[in-house]
Amino acid sequence: MIDIAENIRQIRGKVLAAAARGGRDGRTVQIIAVTKTRSPEEMLAAVEAGLTDLGENKVQELEEKYAAVTAGVTEMKTSVRWHMIGHLQRNKVKYTMDKVDLIHSVDSFRLAEEIDRRASLSSKKVDILLQVNPAGEESKFGLSASEAPALTGKILNELSNVCVRGLMTVVPDVADPEEVRPYFRTVSRLFDEIKTSLSHERLDMRYLSMGMTHDYEVAVEEGANLIRVGTGIFGPRSYEVE
Ligand SMILES: *Cc1c(COP(=O)(O)O)cnc(C)c1O
Repeated sequence: MIDIAENIRQIRGKVLAAAARGGRDGRTVQIIAVTKTRSPEEMLAAVEAGLTDLGENKVQELEEKYAAVTAGVTEMKTSVRWHMIGHLQRNKVKYTMDKVDLIHSVDSFRLAEEIDRRASLSSKKVDILLQVNPAGEESKFGLSASEAPALTGKILNELSNVCVRGLMTVVPDVADPEEVRPYFRTVSRLFDEIKTSLSHERLDMRYLSMGMTHDYEVAVEEGANLIRVGTGIFGPRSYEVE
């Protein structure tokens, strides 16, 4: 039996310990429940257990579950924030606008431009993170570390309806999470570099989204303050999703 509340309790403990090892207060680290393939009931169990952030990686799944989860959350007299963490196609941006609070996966100017265009149509500002691919894996989306500062500057200069709130990364899936520590460190340094070198009213480097079930402790030690945890909360997925 999967005990969602107990899993979350244990993850919280590990996050606090990992943050302390990194010299930080773990209460500033938010756990995003990654809910791909999960039912609205499972998602609501995570909310019941105290999580306030839900992450989907596909627009279609977001659309399928959004209404039921929102109704359940409202019934609990609470609220949640929705995160789009997966690769986003430009033609799907319009379906996320009224649902998502933070888009983690912006990796090109053209995608940022479409988000900006949709945001302006609904007269809102949209919060985004830039996705960095520090290992340069062909199979993963994301900017190289060297491209990120320039793209941040271009987005801030040319697009008035998006706010850059930080960086996100997905690192290689390896057996020993120590192996990916250098990637987390690279992205963490890049985060600090952008934060100190660029200044703009729509730049607020607040979120460093890194770490999943397998490696979130290392990510938190290296400075992550948003971690994305799926199987660690809900158990193994019955099928894998890209
Ligand atoms: C699925 C997914 C996660 C969570 O993975 P787990 O190993 O189940 O914790 C995190 N981030 C992204 C982008 C994902 O697609």
